[in-house]
Amino acid sequence: MKERLTRLAEAALDLLYPPALYCSCCGNLIDESRAYHLCDHCIAHFRWDGEEPREVDGMKMLRCTQYGLYERTLIFDLKYNGKKYLARDIGEIMADRLALAELDFDVIVPVPMYERKERERGFNQAALIGKYLGKRTGKPCWDHCLVRTEATRPMRGLSPTEREENVKGKFALSEKYDTMLEGKRVLLIDDFYTTGSTARACHEALLSGTGGAPASVTFLAFAAK
Ligand SMILES: [Zn+2]
Repeated sequence: MKERLTRLAEAALDLLYPPALYCSCCGNLIDESRAYHLCDHCIAHFRWDGEEPREVDGMKMLRCTQYGLYERTLIFDLKYNGKKYLARDIGEIMADRLALAELDFDVIVPVPMYERKERERGFNQAALIGKYLGKRTGKPCWDHCLVRTEATRPMRGLSPTEREENVKGKFALSEKYDTMLEGKRVLLIDDFYTTGSTARACHEALLSGTGGAPASVTFLAFAAK
């Protein structure tokens, strides 16, 4: 009950103080012209990544930032503190990162959550980011193109081998999209990248359609270790 009240209070505060006036990361007062709604301090402390896309496991891999304190704040506030508007800032960052890499694509596919878990949280952060990224780039976001077929354990604290086993074979292509991927350049997106086991498992599922394989799959993460 207390938690619900806190959430209500936060929602009310969001209405009183539009998030655009405050730094998305630290809450400092900013003016609305700031890129990604970040203050000078936070934007200078983000560990931006400008490297060329890497070729890993038959996929291109691209990250926006290296995972650190500031990046973690955005991800945690979005996922666990329900600050859904942060998905917009992350979507903007991703759009600019793609432009920097001069990478083109046809459809956005977010890494899915297990259905029950998504219902509990109320949203899938990757899908929310995908929605904003789609708005910025004019490309469709195919939410629920992939499904997580089993509840997986949280990845935190697991070894690379345990991570691999935890997610391997736990993703599938949903019926609706089974024949829609042929020839498409797919942009698979997630908030976070560690060992790549989730991206690999999703990649496998994307290749499993009966209607033909996508032309390419690029994995884009907001932050990567
Ligand atoms: Zn800040």
